[in-house]
Amino acid sequence: MPRPPRSLVSGDVRRHNLTVVLGHVVRSGPSARSEIAEATGLTRGAVTALVAALSEAGVLRETAPVTTGRGRPITRLELAASDLAILVAQVDADSATALLTTLAGDELHRVSRRHGRPMGDPEAVIDVLAAVVADATSAAVRLGRRVVEMPIVVFAPVGGEPPVVLTDTDLGWGEVDVIGGLRSRLGVLPGPVVLEADGWLAAVAERTILASTESMLYIKSNSGIGGAVIANGRIAEGAHGVGGALGHVAIVPDGELCDCGQRGCLVTVAGPDVLLEKAGLADLVAERGLAAAVDELSAQISAGAAPAADAWAEALPWIARSLQVLSLATDPEAIVIGGFWAAHTASIEQAFRSNRPTLAEARDGLPAIPAVVAGRLGADAALLGAVWGSRDRLLADPSRLGL
Ligand SMILES: [Zn+2]
Repeated sequence: MPRPPRSLVSGDVRRHNLTVVLGHVVRSGPSARSEIAEATGLTRGAVTALVAALSEAGVLRETAPVTTGRGRPITRLELAASDLAILVAQVDADSATALLTTLAGDELHRVSRRHGRPMGDPEAVIDVLAAVVADATSAAVRLGRRVVEMPIVVFAPVGGEPPVVLTDTDLGWGEVDVIGGLRSRLGVLPGPVVLEADGWLAAVAERTILASTESMLYIKSNSGIGGAVIANGRIAEGAHGVGGALGHVAIVPDGELCDCGQRGCLVTVAGPDVLLEKAGLADLVAERGLAAAVDELSAQISAGAAPAADAWAEALPWIARSLQVLSLATDPEAIVIGGFWAAHTASIEQAFRSNRPTLAEARDGLPAIPAVVAGRLGADAALLGAVWGSRDRLLADPSRLGL
């Protein structure tokens, strides 16, 4: 086989090494050249040259010298990229949100608008999404930042090429081309656009900050119920892109008809709409929006106030049974609970363990029953997952940063 030209080889190596240096600074924070060399295994000379290239491109900058215990003050390098930004657009059952961040994930601008949940009317929702994206795009211009990528987060499974929303039961959508809808309203969109499902993004984000695990089951509830299965460190996307649509695990025999067409889905007995109705808080949704109503529901459950607490108690066995089935199907190290359910992890764990007594034997130092852990990122989990995902894609391809 002919060898590739030398310049190509060294170009690839250089690109890889730029990514390694940049990745270290992004993940570990401001670092001295010596610290980067030690952590990455690159020579001091190589690090100096790579840092010079990254500084010249405006991606890294030096901090003021810091005095350490002894020796001379050291200068660290931090992420600058002061003219770049990531713009995340998100549409959930309540609102459309646009968030502008630095490459390091620091928030620059955020705008959120309620769309009033017009069921079965994607055009009306995309109008609102387009308005917040336009607002954040203007903010980027005002701040002198170029948007290098625009991930769009939807609370629904995504599939196809180009990607579309497959079905969103929270909004009464069938297949909807969100990217196309934004293009037709806004013309050219800022940066390359990706469309991603919230459950997967939130799962990856939680996995990043929780003790990293190769196999994890993630379930969350904000608007509907969603989740993800992480196996061998990767999201199990499935053949049709709906892997991890845990709200539609058909758990109740001959149960109520779900918008997805099945009977007895978990969301029909434990979804927020059902709980809010039973808790007598349905009017609050119309008044203040779903997110505010769910916050109130969660507070009443925590306080043990009837009827919210009773509604939660009725939902728990179904949540537990779904997790029991799913945990034997996927054998995760941990089950991570997200959305407003995170605050109620203890009751979910108790219900989950009530039917797992015989699998308690530990083997190879690992408990056979997965740990049930509360997610830590709250309602922003998917947004943060989208930002971090964009950042990692950019680091993997420094040419997009002008390098
Ligand atoms: Zn369903």
